[in-house]
Amino acid sequence: MKKEFKVEYEQKDNYKLSDLKDFEVKLLKRVLEICKEAKEKGNHPFGCLLADKEGNILMEQGNEEVSLKGDCTAHAEALLMRKASQIYTKKEMKEFTLYNCADSCAMCTGAMYWGNLGRHVYIARESELKKYTGDDIRNPTLNLPSRVVMASGQKEFETLGPFTELEDEFFKLHKDYWNK
Ligand SMILES: [Zn+2]
Repeated sequence: MKKEFKVEYEQKDNYKLSDLKDFEVKLLKRVLEICKEAKEKGNHPFGCLLADKEGNILMEQGNEEVSLKGDCTAHAEALLMRKASQIYTKKEMKEFTLYNCADSCAMCTGAMYWGNLGRHVYIARESELKKYTGDDIRNPTLNLPSRVVMASGQKEFETLGPFTELEDEFFKLHKDYWNK
């Protein structure tokens, strides 16, 4: 856990909520509520949702690592992708957007890739999240932008984020939560 590493790649674009459609801002705010609900259930404060192009919510998912007895793959996005890929075809998944509380880890980005998701919109940077989680054994956050993972694949994939205007609201749930 002591190994220091540095990822040179950092997202430079400055995304503004005003660039999103109104319903997308509402969906990101709903994601923050899902994080809060996950925390209230004793899980880690992470969450996401899947929506179609009109903004209809198809699925919501909070982190369930504690509920699922320590299942290390029970990140919200991985759980959502597992469930969604059993309901929707890969062609349908390509048209959907996953709205996320933070940039996705390598595992979850992998699930998005294999599940043929089309689009990812996220609030918080993993590099900032890492300041809260530190090397806590429960969530030793990677600083590996999902764009780097997706750029290694063979598909077109749209990523929008971070939306730093909502970061404080997300990190509020992480303050004093992790053992740094
Ligand atoms: Zn993950």
